[in-house]
Amino acid sequence: MAIAVTKIVLYEIAGARICSSCKKPIAPDEKAVSFRCPNCGAVTIWRCYKCRTMGVPYKCPNCGFEGP
Ligand SMILES: [Zn+2]
Ligand SMILES: [Zn+2]
Repeated sequence: MAIAVTKIVLYEIAGARICSSCKKPIAPDEKAVSFRCPNCGAVTIWRCYKCRTMGVPYKCPNCGFEGP
């Protein structure tokens, strides 16, 4: 008897890597940066390579803090 095993690969759904500036998903091999919100510290903010180099401001989804 063969039991069908369905393997579902989860790509960090809990900690989805979405750029906080442009709202685009960040590729696993992209040179993105992540850091805690300097204001509330409750949210991990991701910035994609493009937004980081262009200095696009980000906004914390938790407290609304905006920073460069
Ligand atoms: Zn971005
Ligand atoms: Zn915050």
